[in-house]
Amino acid sequence: MVESSDAVALSGLRKVFGSGADAVTAVDSVDLAIRDGEFFSMLGPSGSGKTTVLRMIAGFELPTAGTILLGGVDVSRKAPFERDVNTVFQDYALFPHMSVADNIAYGLKVRGVRRDERRRRAGEALETVRLSGYGARRPGQLSGGQRQRVALARALVNRPKVLLLDEPLGALDLKLREEMQVELKAIQREVGITFVFVTHDQEEALTMSDRIAVFRAGRIEQVGTPAEIYEFPATDFVAGFVGTSNLLRGETARTVVGTEGTFSIRPEKLRIVAQDAAVAADECVADGSVADVVYVGAATRFLVDLDAGGRLVVLQQNVETSSSEVTSWRDRRVRLLWRRDQLFRLPDVAAESGAELPHSPLDAVPAHTG
Ligand code: ADP
Ligand code: MG
Repeated sequence: MVESSDAVALSGLRKVFGSGADAVTAVDSVDLAIRDGEFFSMLGPSGSGKTTVLRMIAGFELPTAGTILLGGVDVSRKAPFERDVNTVFQDYALFPHMSVADNIAYGLKVRGVRRDERRRRAGEALETVRLSGYGARRPGQLSGGQRQRVALARALVNRPKVLLLDEPLGALDLKLREEMQVELKAIQREVGITFVFVTHDQEEALTMSDRIAVFRAGRIEQVGTPAEIYEFPATDFVAGFVGTSNLLRGETARTVVGTEGTFSIRPEKLRIVAQDAAVAADECVADGSVADVVYVGAATRFLVDLDAGGRLVVLQQNVETSSSEVTSWRDRRVRLLWRRDQLFRLPDVAAESGAELPHSPLDAVPAHTG
């Protein structure tokens, strides 16, 4: 449902590059409404059409079909400068010969903003990205993280309604990237601008976003809050792309869940217990043997081959266990227990191409009677 208060509304959006046998459908039937003030992420593997959607919102590409509304106004055919958006790219694209302050104020200068006003707003933008006092430096005298902040300040100084960010943290190393994730989110909250953030990193999307759209091959598989996407993935693609997917299907589902279908359970919901441990009425149980143990510091990942067929990943916090202890668990016979309501049913592959399926955290699964 599109409302005029939506910052961005896409409907039937489609983009085909090339023609004839060389045609590539980069974006196909995308419908999406992004609310005013939202931190919205477009998440998906490389080549799934995220950048193309962003470039169409910015006006760098024209859609093959469909419409783009910004603040309720149709801008589908408008030039980039006629749209109240700014883009932050991964390769900061700063002018190396200009000072940081001049880089930030450049867009204002082009638009004929007076000099003292430019200086004041560039100073404010630097403060927003926590770089006060760096205005006189050249980009070459900054670290990668600082350059990315300058690129952000340069976009914010125009006070756009919507800021588009295409994998802006992709070039930073992990530690810096994690710091910037927290900060970027804080900055967004402060300035109140709608952020549309593209990333292929599921953790990044889960950390920062109010809502996420998961892309696959030019289409949206699911839109939801991080918790909705993680806890209740709508398809097995989403279950696998956002977090580790543990699937129970076919004969395994029949044996373990007691019903037909494809079910998913997150690794941290599973508990490893002794083989003779009792099973409560609201629990599912599966016996098996440990195929592999991966110690990852704060936690340990166990791969368990089920007697009923299939393999489940179990993530266990290392609260009491130590590395030497858990690695000796290889080949050990174990019992896995989990709460039945933490299992969720995925739409059947055969039905996936059909209309929207109702999908819930498993009210449809009958209690285990075995
Ligand atoms: P993502 O950002 O999710 O990695 P893109 O939107 O960049 O994906 O690309 C989606 C698909 O469109 C890919 O198959 C890509 O090769 C193709 N594509 C993107 N831009 C062009 C272009 N200018 N010409 C031809 N094909 C393109
Ligand atoms: Mg891209």
